[in-house]
Amino acid sequence: MKLAVVGTGYVGLVTGTCFAETGNQVTCVDIDVNKIERLKKGEIPIFEPGLDVLFDRNVAEGRLTFTTDLKAGIEGAEVIFLALPTPPGEDGSADLKYILKVADDLGPILSQYTVIIDKSTVPVGTAEKVQAAIAKNATIDFDVVSNPEFLREGVAVEDFMKPDRVVVGTTSAKAQKVMEKLYAPLVRQGNPVIFMDERSAEMTKYAANSFLALKITFMNEVANLCELVGANVDDIRRGIGTDSRIGNRFLFAGIGYGGSCFPKDVQALAKTSDDYGYDFRTLKSVMAVNDDQKKKLLPIVHEYFDGSLAGKTIAVWGLAFKPYTDDIREAPALENIKALLEAGAKVTVYDPEAMENVKRLIPEITYCHTAYAALDDADALMIFTEWPQFRTPDFTKMGKLLKEKVIFDGRNLYELDQMRDLGFTYYSIGREALN
Ligand code: NAD
Repeated sequence: MKLAVVGTGYVGLVTGTCFAETGNQVTCVDIDVNKIERLKKGEIPIFEPGLDVLFDRNVAEGRLTFTTDLKAGIEGAEVIFLALPTPPGEDGSADLKYILKVADDLGPILSQYTVIIDKSTVPVGTAEKVQAAIAKNATIDFDVVSNPEFLREGVAVEDFMKPDRVVVGTTSAKAQKVMEKLYAPLVRQGNPVIFMDERSAEMTKYAANSFLALKITFMNEVANLCELVGANVDDIRRGIGTDSRIGNRFLFAGIGYGGSCFPKDVQALAKTSDDYGYDFRTLKSVMAVNDDQKKKLLPIVHEYFDGSLAGKTIAVWGLAFKPYTDDIREAPALENIKALLEAGAKVTVYDPEAMENVKRLIPEITYCHTAYAALDDADALMIFTEWPQFRTPDFTKMGKLLKEKVIFDGRNLYELDQMRDLGFTYYSIGREALN
């Protein structure tokens, strides 16, 4: 099949590359000239494990091309994916301006029956709006399908090539056939393609992300209570995660969720609820608890340094909102670093992938080439991302580099017994403080 993908970010580039890998002819379109130039030169503008191998192969074999020209990009395409940003608007709703702009542009240039697939996360009713925007100027038959994306950054290629399920919202039998053909190579092991109407598909994506955010947040509140009652949240996790009704994933307590999806999607679903006159109380609690959780370690750091961080140097390990990505959108590290700077501290940081992205936002901190370099002469270490390389560091070396052997760990990377034996002052989430 011939496909076009409009929007070549995390989702668009993975979608385009993976569908090229299954033998389709794919053109990726973006308005970001610099991004398209880099892609044409064979450079991948994001960090996503495993993407490079597929990208190189499909570019070399001529199945994956790039353009800034929408009309040229969609020429002959049976299917057009929209993988455009849907950032939160001022009122928390998903801003549809990017999607509706492309929908407006598509109307007059469609030249044959086309299935336009909404891959962006969009509120209920968007497929109808896109349909109407295209129909204003279209002269041919087309269908708009909702096909929300569930990939996780960091394992996006694997998620895309072997999805747990594919959700497709369409009431058109013709579009359904196209979608079945497109996804057949990815669901050969029997993982379902679940067809439903457009509104239900749009709602499914928000329900999935909100439920995961709720699960994380619930566990964070359990952790907060564990600290007060003297229980260990790691044991609680093992104790409840083995119950198949609960499941063992998304139960790790920590310093709150971030990223480009959970915060905005929870907010957008809450806004949709308000618009329909429904007070979605659990969602509102999730947002409020997560905001507090992200700042949870700061008062402990202040108290440790007797209320003043002036002249102190705090080392930070981890900037990305989670490991295996360079994505820093809504990452807890950023808010914490800003608060440390405001309190008069100096900050030295290390992250294996995300430092270039943070440099553009917070140039005034010290970026180090290794995790250990960030510790040199620092008064304490704070950890915000569970990169595997932070899990088994050389603690003796850390103890020598740090002025004081103190760690504020937002990701519960280390065992309490181990830290006790090594003589570290150690604060984590939902576990006894070693002080
Ligand atoms: P992104 O910001 O990485 O990429 C969006 C791209 O669209 C950018 O390259 C931008 O230049 C381009 N763009 C903007 N206007 C355009 C236009 N008029 N024509 C062509 N290109 C244009 O965003 P993303 O993370 O890929 O997310 C895209 C959508 O997918 C969002 O709705 C998001 O919620 C959803 N989603 C994201 C993830 C994820 O993990 N990132 C997962 C599932 C769903």
